[in-house]
Amino acid sequence: VVVEVLDHGFVELLDSMADDLSVVNSARVSFGKRHNTFLAEDEKLIGYLMKHKHGTPFEHNSFTFHVCAPIFVFREWQRHRIGSFNEMSARYMELPERYYLPEYANVRTRVGKPGHYTYETASLTVAHEFVGDLDTACKQDYDLYKTYLAAGIAPEQARCFLHVNHYSEMYWTVNARSLMNFLSLRNSSTAQWEIKQYAEVVEVMWSTIMPFTYEAFVENDRQAP
Ligand SMILES: Cc1cc2nc3c(=O)[nH]c(=O)nc-3n(C[C@H](O)[C@H](O)[C@H](O)COP(=O)(O)OP(=O)(O)OC[C@H]3O[C@@H](n4cnc5c(N)ncnc54)[C@H](O)[C@@H]3O)c2cc1C
Repeated sequence: VVVEVLDHGFVELLDSMADDLSVVNSARVSFGKRHNTFLAEDEKLIGYLMKHKHGTPFEHNSFTFHVCAPIFVFREWQRHRIGSFNEMSARYMELPERYYLPEYANVRTRVGKPGHYTYETASLTVAHEFVGDLDTACKQDYDLYKTYLAAGIAPEQARCFLHVNHYSEMYWTVNARSLMNFLSLRNSSTAQWEIKQYAEVVEVMWSTIMPFTYEAFVENDRQAP
């Protein structure tokens, strides 16, 4: 299933090898035990592991997502080192004309002191000007990108005309433990709104595959074990 995010982005869960049973079985291997089906007591064990930060049993699984997002969102996302990334290359291919423009109602002003900022909706006049100017700048610079590509400039240099709101695509493979850390930080009120939109979708996709782990994560104040 492909879920659209922002104006041109998406998240698709391409593949997964994961379930709640693998969590309890990888914990029980300590005692040479294994269950073939998920039992009522297993839910408790998952809660115990989560609460007491026994994190490694949550690593025996994997999720591969195909993500299309603005480059500035990837800059934040790819700081999460525990996982694997492969991204579209602007050295090897021409990036399509796809850039992010916020909706007017979502243009924000920042108010407050360092460390205590709040974000407020900009006035409609300011929002129109901002989005209009951004659109013009991106369009002009994309045209220059194409012009210099056509003139034979190497794509790796021509791309300097593209902006950080230009869309890129990547594959991201991650295990549930690292995914919980990602969700804890990026599906949070302190995360940048744009990456949070992606994290919300990722959270739903993950939670349907590991519902008991998800429940324990939420009960544990959304902290990764
Ligand atoms: C609201 C917010 C604001 C941010 N602002 C900035 C900013 O201004 N500047 C900036 O540079 N970054 C910023 N970051 C990024 C942040 O510093 C982390 O790089 C990012 O959130 C990834 O988190 P992580 O290291 O826990 O994840 P991962 O890299 O996936 O690591 C997962 C866990 O593995 C362990 N781990 C991984 N690598 C190491 C290591 N080398 N040594 C020890 N333990 C390790 C840690 O326990 C870590 O929590 C911000 C993040 C958020 C959410």
